[in-house]
Amino acid sequence: MKEKQTVRRVRTVLGDIDPAGLGACDAHDHLFLRSPQLPGQELDSADAAAAERAAFRAAGGRSVVQWTPHGMGRCAGRLTELSRATGVHLVAATGLHQAAHYTPEFLDRFRAGGLTDLFIRELTEGIGESGVRAGLIKVAGGFHGLDGHARRTMAAAAEAHHATGAPIAVHLELGTGALDVLDLLCGALAVPPHRVILGHLNRAPDLTGQLQAAESGAHLAFDGPSRSHHATDWRMPDAVRSLAEAGFGDRLLLGGDTTTAAAQSVDGGPGMPYLLRRVRPRLALAVGDELVERILTVNPGRAFGVEWA
Ligand SMILES: [Zn+2]
Repeated sequence: MKEKQTVRRVRTVLGDIDPAGLGACDAHDHLFLRSPQLPGQELDSADAAAAERAAFRAAGGRSVVQWTPHGMGRCAGRLTELSRATGVHLVAATGLHQAAHYTPEFLDRFRAGGLTDLFIRELTEGIGESGVRAGLIKVAGGFHGLDGHARRTMAAAAEAHHATGAPIAVHLELGTGALDVLDLLCGALAVPPHRVILGHLNRAPDLTGQLQAAESGAHLAFDGPSRSHHATDWRMPDAVRSLAEAGFGDRLLLGGDTTTAAAQSVDGGPGMPYLLRRVRPRLALAVGDELVERILTVNPGRAFGVEWA
């Protein structure tokens, strides 16, 4: 009997593509974002989004995974035009962030359920009226723990994963709580670890915890420069080297995680090009060019390329 062929595809805003076609990928970033936690700093300008994408492309970037979830101003309808205009592959997200990023009235809509259906609809039919399908489910843990909102959201994400095959990307608060998230998602909720992407590992530079998370089989994202003088940026290359030496080089991802207008390169911040302009050569000093290129171009396809149901 012939073995069933499995075909893995990345679900971009312009359609499903071969993971090998991603090119240099910013595996965690935001084109559009709004939150009551970041008043007056919204990422909501289509012109700035286009200019930032053009700067990223000029630096050699070819694809961006936007982790902005439901209800946070994703501007899904603008993503197809932006992708066409800038020649950069874009992946959109469904899912929910921490409760603090929404109004109580917004969350009331989902208190009685309905999250799973929403996630599945956005993955398979499209986000709102845009027709743009999400390519991942974003969820969020808390600081060293998981509240009821996080558990409800992760349960819905797991159901949506089982129905569609979609990868689940997790915001870890300040990089903490990875093992609690894995216990829930991959234990009780039976999501295969290689379909889970843990974000912000760079914000909690505990190598033992990072190794334990990698041993589970999940992908680890080192995404974004530190916000202030946290002693994390200079530890990141050593963490990546240690994880690679332990055999986990194919599970690592890099991202920029630009969350405010002022952080965009077009506004004088590091923005998306920083990943290729500064992080790439700095990391290459620690682990060599070959691994850095694989992390940027091959690993995102492993993490976001799935067999869609
Ligand atoms: Zn983010």
